[in-house]
Amino acid sequence: MSHNPHSQEGVESVTILGTGPAGLTAAIYAARANLKPLVAEGEQPGGQLTITTEVENYPGFADGVLGPELMANFRKQSERFGTRFIQGNVVKADLAKRPFTLEFADGRVVKTQTLIISTGASAKWIGLPSERKLLGKGVSSCATCDGFFFRNLDIAVVGGGDTAMEEATFLTRFAKSVTVIHRRDTLRASKIMQEKAQKNPKIKFVWNAAIEEILGEKEVEGVRIRDLVKNETYDLPFKGVFVAIGHEPNTRLFQGQLKLDAAGYLLTEAGSTRTNIPGVFAAGDVADHVYRQAITAAGTGCMAAIDAERYLESGEA
Ligand code: NAP
Repeated sequence: MSHNPHSQEGVESVTILGTGPAGLTAAIYAARANLKPLVAEGEQPGGQLTITTEVENYPGFADGVLGPELMANFRKQSERFGTRFIQGNVVKADLAKRPFTLEFADGRVVKTQTLIISTGASAKWIGLPSERKLLGKGVSSCATCDGFFFRNLDIAVVGGGDTAMEEATFLTRFAKSVTVIHRRDTLRASKIMQEKAQKNPKIKFVWNAAIEEILGEKEVEGVRIRDLVKNETYDLPFKGVFVAIGHEPNTRLFQGQLKLDAAGYLLTEAGSTRTNIPGVFAAGDVADHVYRQAITAAGTGCMAAIDAERYLESGEA
């Protein structure tokens, strides 16, 4: 692949937002195309895989690999070909004028001819004031990060999907009991994960239950539940509450500038990573609510780098 013939003084050719599998794969490909990509690390360097343990379905690792180790290798590989990194978060993006302008929290400004958005998705919250107040004081969204703190305690997991089943099963390693609290009477999770959780003697289920409040002043003491069938409330005691109700895409910066779907995911043209603004591309979970896998994120990251390179070659920038 050739060097961008249209490079401009003080303007980046390719800037990539995010350092999960999508962003770092885009970086590897853009760097190997001699585009010297600049990568903004984002809020959670390495992305969601840094808060998992064993990854068993990433092809090429027959015996599995630890998430953080996999991401460290992605990064090393991208650095080998000249990727540069910039720490921190972008707080403003102006995509109306070319080159595009990105402003970081500390005031630094980056101008770029192309932008690859791979900012991923973050855990969703119920949205209760008490949940926010007790975050880190018994409320968590990451069993692999915080499960250890709940040794021999009773904890609750909120949600009925695969994430909730996975978190609940994992937490039984530490907890005395795990209670899955779900708003309906059937789970959304895949059969295999449901069965695994239902067979686990430490896991109980509370059905048709909406959390109205997380109880406790300085730390979690329980939850107030509304029984959605009887329309009554009751309290259950817990020392920890793990919220596992899905994810939302990190697209706030681009609202009003790029086309998003109803759930806030970036929309791309079918079969490409192009957004509605030429020169802006999207890869990974930020544009994917269907597959959400490390391998699919890496695949679209590769596509985005190739799309960006072709765009620069076309002279449109
Ligand atoms: P999900 O499938 O969207 O499930 C979210 C769950 O949370 C649903 O049961 C939903 O209830 C509930 N929920 C949503 N908003 C809620 C709210 N405000 N209050 C209470 N409950 C709420 O999300 P996910 O479990 O994170 O899974 C996402 C994707 O990743 C899926 O495709 C899944 O298969 C995949 N995944 C796979 C694995 C694995 O294979 N190892 C592990 C984790 C995730 P309703 O059912 O009533 O809508």
